[in-house]
Amino acid sequence: AAMREETIKKEKTVCTYCGVGCSFDVWTKDRQILKVEPSAQSPANGISTCIKGKFGWDYVNSEDRLQKPLVRRGDHFEEVEWDEAMQYVVDRMKKILAEKGPDHLAFIASSKATNEESYLMQKLARQVIGTNNVDNCSRYCQAPATKGLFRTVGYGGDSGSIDDLGDSKLVITIGSNTAESHPVLASRIKRSQKLLGHKLFVFDLRKHEMAKRADRFYQPKSGTDLVWLSAVTKYILDQGWEDKNFLNDWVNGFDEYRESLEPFTLAYASDLTGIPQEELKQVAEEVATSESVAICWAMGVTQHMLGSDTSTAISNLLLITGNYGKPGTGAYPLRGHNNVQGCSDFGSMPNFFPGYESTEDDEVRARYEKAWGTELPKETGMDNHEMIEAIHDGELSMMYVMGEDTGIVDANINYVTAAFEKLDLFIVQDLFLTKTAEYADVVLPASPSLEKDGTFTNTERRIQRLYKSFDPLEGTKPDWEIIQLMAGYFGVDWGYEHPSEIMAEAAGLAPLFAGVTYERLEGYNSLQWPVAEDGTDEPLLFTEGFPFEDKKAKLYPLTYELMYDTNEEYDLHVNNGRLLEHFHEGNMTYRTSGIRRKTPNAFIEVSEELAKERGIEEGAEVKLISESGEATGQVTVTDRVRGKEIFLPLNSNGKSAINYLTDNRVDKDTDTPAYKEIAVKMKVLKKK
Ligand code: SF4
Repeated sequence: AAMREETIKKEKTVCTYCGVGCSFDVWTKDRQILKVEPSAQSPANGISTCIKGKFGWDYVNSEDRLQKPLVRRGDHFEEVEWDEAMQYVVDRMKKILAEKGPDHLAFIASSKATNEESYLMQKLARQVIGTNNVDNCSRYCQAPATKGLFRTVGYGGDSGSIDDLGDSKLVITIGSNTAESHPVLASRIKRSQKLLGHKLFVFDLRKHEMAKRADRFYQPKSGTDLVWLSAVTKYILDQGWEDKNFLNDWVNGFDEYRESLEPFTLAYASDLTGIPQEELKQVAEEVATSESVAICWAMGVTQHMLGSDTSTAISNLLLITGNYGKPGTGAYPLRGHNNVQGCSDFGSMPNFFPGYESTEDDEVRARYEKAWGTELPKETGMDNHEMIEAIHDGELSMMYVMGEDTGIVDANINYVTAAFEKLDLFIVQDLFLTKTAEYADVVLPASPSLEKDGTFTNTERRIQRLYKSFDPLEGTKPDWEIIQLMAGYFGVDWGYEHPSEIMAEAAGLAPLFAGVTYERLEGYNSLQWPVAEDGTDEPLLFTEGFPFEDKKAKLYPLTYELMYDTNEEYDLHVNNGRLLEHFHEGNMTYRTSGIRRKTPNAFIEVSEELAKERGIEEGAEVKLISESGEATGQVTVTDRVRGKEIFLPLNSNGKSAINYLTDNRVDKDTDTPAYKEIAVKMKVLKKK
């Protein structure tokens, strides 16, 4: 056996969980993680972390880690060597390519993997296979926010930094359980509220910790945020409280937009949202008169059929009141995964090359064709949602999923897993034999963040380096090496020896990252895109206009129709969200003993009124039934939800998994599933 190295090591890494992007030093001895220690130099978090960043690392050394590629033989998996797995995969991919063409293959990149790995996934799809069928899990979360911001201000990212949220005189959060989903960022807001007297308004269905701390808390009816946002904007204009200079200098499309607001009277908004007119007036006045306003939002806004339009309404309000381009202002779609921002930034999207340049733009395509030495596909490929539909329709034969538990996190999982079974070839690359991997033909064992070098981009557009703490667990490889190996079996030799070379290539091709180099990102240094060639970055966007030809932003007219409601049979509305201690489907956090002990079981939150009406108590067991499926779990009775609202944590992969209940309805502009619009009926299994 090789001599074991007994030295203690310290390496900087970036958290593998949420989009806040906390960075810290990890002290290790061999593969043992001794301590996680934030540094005062950590740009996003300073000396803070949350429970997940500090203690959530056991999964790296879990006995469940896969250590050999698996190939399906009938109803079981056989362990094989890498060579055999790769040859098998590539032979079968080639066969599909030859018989059915490149658009029968599809690729899903991982928002937990690095920017360099996202870059390679889209390069594999586009250069080696010749398809734009590549997407990532931002389709499940913030794609509507990106859409809303692109339409209005031109960049699909947070306008400023976490520091700006600390500086903002009024922070509004909409559909975001910030304290549990983005804990360190929430602390920043809380601190400014407490120490500097800044204001916090919270709009949410659920009375969570931030709602309880807020200066004002509003509970609009599910799916109606667009209405109150537009009504508040209209009222500001009716009163003449808009920022006239800003509109004059920096904004196009005023007249048409103004006209589109006509239906959004206070009476109409109050009727639909349930918020009294007087309160809407107060919100309008506070927004119009506050020195700076920043609006944060998350899945409570985006995972609706009008997710993109609601995100657009947020941006419209900020434009009308001149809340862009100044410290403490702007739009903050809070990113879920550690690298969901970067995964989209680096091109794993069906319509964009890295840096959000359209595949349909001939000049852009020509640039990549020259660099990659081959003709590239032009038309937009399939997004995640379309891929599942296409499999059911016999139009997609292969899917390669990297680091994503699609069979749990996609909506309507009965439908999704039925699609998996129809694939000719299903490749899953992950740390564990996830629920999704159970359906695979080939499973490739990958390495987590602590075992690799690379970069992540957090919610502030901040690109940060991670350094590997120890080598990949025996038998596993970092995702970038696996993708490169696969390209090699197709006869394409990329020849990258280190992720820095991948970043150098991306920076040379995508103007958004022109000045990004590993040297500039050394240690705790970071860069917030766009990064000019000389290395100048932009912590605060739009200080000198917007990235459109005339530098002016665009107001975007909207309409509203009620698209979802409960009915007589399915009379309860199910909402869902994160818990502080867990992350998404729980593949990582459920493998961390301290966390698992703290929150072992998922639960179903029921209001006191509903519990009384149905004669149930704390600990009762219920079955929730939607039109797509059913989920069972234990009840907790709480004042966090009201009336006929039910809340389910999304962190369960067992019988109470939320996506047994969700269906195929999506945001009309981005195909993001409407996870938050589920009507169910409840059957009581055990009263207490
Ligand atoms: Fe990690 Fe987010 Fe917690 Fe920071 S706040 S330690 S990034 S999970």
